[in-house]
Amino acid sequence: MDRKRMFIDGRFCDSESGETRATVNPATEEPIAEVPVATVGDARRAIEAARRAFDSGVWSGMSPADRAKALMRVFAALKEREPDLAELEARDGGSTIRKTSMMDIPVGIEHFRLLVELGEKVPAYEPLPWVDFPFVSWNFVNREPIGVCAGIIPWNFPFMMAVWKTAPALIMGNTLVLKPASDTPLTALALAECAAEADLPPGVFNVLTGSGSVVGTELATSPLVDKVALTGSTATGRHVMRLAADTVKKVTLELGGKSPTIVLEDADLDIAVDGALFGTFFHAGQVCESGTRCFVPASIYDEFMARLRERVGHIKLGDTLDFETTMGPVVSKAQLETVTGYIDVGKKEGARLFCGGCRPGHLAKGFFVEPTVFEGVSNDMRIAREEIFGPVLSVIRYEDVDSAIAMANDSVYGLGGAVFSRDVPGAIALAKRLRTGTVWINDYHLLNALAPFGGYKQSGVGRELGPHGLLEYTQVKHIHVDLTNDRKKKFWYDYIFNDE
Ligand code: NAD
Ligand code: MG
Repeated sequence: MDRKRMFIDGRFCDSESGETRATVNPATEEPIAEVPVATVGDARRAIEAARRAFDSGVWSGMSPADRAKALMRVFAALKEREPDLAELEARDGGSTIRKTSMMDIPVGIEHFRLLVELGEKVPAYEPLPWVDFPFVSWNFVNREPIGVCAGIIPWNFPFMMAVWKTAPALIMGNTLVLKPASDTPLTALALAECAAEADLPPGVFNVLTGSGSVVGTELATSPLVDKVALTGSTATGRHVMRLAADTVKKVTLELGGKSPTIVLEDADLDIAVDGALFGTFFHAGQVCESGTRCFVPASIYDEFMARLRERVGHIKLGDTLDFETTMGPVVSKAQLETVTGYIDVGKKEGARLFCGGCRPGHLAKGFFVEPTVFEGVSNDMRIAREEIFGPVLSVIRYEDVDSAIAMANDSVYGLGGAVFSRDVPGAIALAKRLRTGTVWINDYHLLNALAPFGGYKQSGVGRELGPHGLLEYTQVKHIHVDLTNDRKKKFWYDYIFNDE
């Protein structure tokens, strides 16, 4: 079996304890590689390396253009490995090769480039309004890196999440310690190999493989870390925010969701039915902004559901390395148990199982769950309130649009959502009433490196991607330059002097 090493201070290394953990292919349940289990000591070494690299100015003192040049070497190395990365991602996380080769890897690599290019253009100098009363001064903002950043990422889109943490932190002049999820460390380690090939200065980029409770805790509490950026569950987000409080770190959080898909009476049902299914069953529902509550008007309910049943039949579960397969397993046995547990909860709560609900009979191995749809769901059931993170859709029937919007907003989450309608201005008006960070109109899931992504309410703090996301990796410094140049006119000094 492949034995991988982590990346600290420009070198690949084992854990100081020598301990390793196997990472498993969720479709076959077979181990595919051994990775080090980092200790607190390893985490400290990585943090200290990132601190030294930041404080030396070797990276933060470089011009954005030179940093971009170095990062484009990483991009080139990623590009060269694109097919290998697609296979690695599929095997480690249980994604289909269809998805990783069409989406996760090419789009992730493209996001890396776009974020570097966008970050390079963020001006360090921001003018402020001219002040000439009661004093004359020139004021401006200098945008500066924050310092040492920690990126803690989940297992659902391992490569994409690694890119979203790495490219913004580094182009803005920070140094980074990245911690992938224990179940899916391999593409983050491949990113480290690309960084090594690109000759980034040692310590600028580090990858630690290890548990959230050990490595994650050290990253969130270390006084040497200036910012922690986490993508994960809301429970972990809450915990990390508390851990970060003692050292008053900057925190950005991308957390869970229970996003609404609102279908209107005038929707194009070819687009809306497939959109609702794509919104839920893409990556077996393991997407934070999945549209897991689908609101369907009573007037078109029967037709919508009949079409939905027909289209679910076109989702194909199977060998994830077969390009024909369109849905893979969930990531682990633990996740499988969570999902099947929620299916039981839904039945007990009185929702009607419309389709799915079981592990597929034709697959002997792997953590697969059939695409599952519940109808007769009310918005106060647990299956409509809690994030399941698996292929389970709750369909909620509604009579009028206002009640659909009210139910959509009746959630502790506020990450994504969609409106399907032929009336685009009307749909935009409804989108503005949804309390979520992203709303798609007649579409789902398309995130774009140039547009901000993040959550309202308990779905998160701050934004990733786009100019808004890049600024989350900067500090704002106000510089005031006195232009009075005449002691006699500087009357405010006399607040403390009496020269009479
Ligand atoms: P998780 O919260 O269990 O883990 C996320 C990361 O946090 C992992 O690297 C984990 O090791 C680490 N971690 C766990 N406990 C920690 C602790 N005590 N201190 C520090 N770090 C700790 O999440 P997951 O199960 O890997 O991923 C699924 C969750 O992520 C879902 O809730 C999903 O909605 C969310 N998610 C959100 C987004 C988004 O952008 N909003 C994207 C993807 C996933
Ligand atoms: Mg794995």
